[in-house]
Amino acid sequence: MEKEDILSLSAEELADELEALGEKKFRAGQIFEWLHVKRAVSFDEMTNISLALRTKLSDKFYINRLNIVRKLESSIDNTVKYLYELSDGNHIETVLMDYKHGNSLCISTQVGCKMGCRFCASTIAGFKRNLLPSEMLEQIYEAERDSGRKVESLVLMGIGEPLDNYDNVVKFLKLLSCPKGKNLSLRHVSVSTCGLVDRIYDLAENRFGLTLSVSLHASSNERRSEIMPVNKRYDINELLAACRDYIEKTGRRISFEYAVIRGVNDSQQDADKLIKLLHGINCHVNLIPVNEIKERDFKSDRQSVQNFMHMLEKGGLNVTVRRTLGSDINAACGQLRREYEI
Ligand code: SAH
Repeated sequence: MEKEDILSLSAEELADELEALGEKKFRAGQIFEWLHVKRAVSFDEMTNISLALRTKLSDKFYINRLNIVRKLESSIDNTVKYLYELSDGNHIETVLMDYKHGNSLCISTQVGCKMGCRFCASTIAGFKRNLLPSEMLEQIYEAERDSGRKVESLVLMGIGEPLDNYDNVVKFLKLLSCPKGKNLSLRHVSVSTCGLVDRIYDLAENRFGLTLSVSLHASSNERRSEIMPVNKRYDINELLAACRDYIEKTGRRISFEYAVIRGVNDSQQDADKLIKLLHGINCHVNLIPVNEIKERDFKSDRQSVQNFMHMLEKGGLNVTVRRTLGSDINAACGQLRREYEI
């Protein structure tokens, strides 16, 4: 019999499982605490649980773990990039960043990515599979164990498209914010999407307090379709309609991500179109100087990013430029990969 992934179970699901094993439901609370607060990696550690129950548990379940295969530490800032091996031998990357307001972790949601954004390294080796809720949690738990640092905020901006793994991501968010577990408020979580419109509507229904980041990167359909194939499925108008709905339902403003690429999307005309598109939408624009990847020739420079920022500000938009962290260890936006080189 194949064992079940206990770390992906909610507290309620765990209680039901225990009842089915003929145990008292309150045991579930103890076991959930061992897993998500004390971070036990084996059933043997659960000393307030009888040996008989521990044996039953280990016959039925496994505790999913990630192995750190490699760890790179930036010499510029305090950024650490982890290369994790999953239990089936696949690899993902996770980045721990040090911000003024605390430690932030950038996690992956899939092994590889099928979205095909031209400027992004995560999609180059293609898509392998979705990550389980336990594998998203373990990226946090293992980074905390290894670094001794506490993760205070989280961004779903690593490898993969979170909304293409919708059910597992929603389950993960519920586990993450569960008061009996890590208890991280979703106010400290950002989910980034390339624009899977149907799922943006679905996410709005959950009314989570998280920040939705939408990767826009261009202000015309023609240009966006060239650099982001997803635009051929859901164009800018459909995307912005979903964003308006999201803002209305959740009361949260949206953060639009815009990777500034020299000669591709940084002209005055691009800025004018963007100002018009976002007029009246409760949002924030986050400019990212495009990070270079070896397979492509997209470039950015400080000056053109600053110029573009001023153009947008003049048009009344709320704009910031994202700080680049971990660039010396290829840990910046768009530089994480499915296939790694030793
Ligand atoms: N799939 C999600 C989340 C992953 S990437 C999404 O598309 O939003 C997180 C952010 O980094 C996205 O805004 C993405 O477009 C951006 N990004 C990808 N490659 C980049 C690069 N080379 N330079 C700067 N930003 C990049």
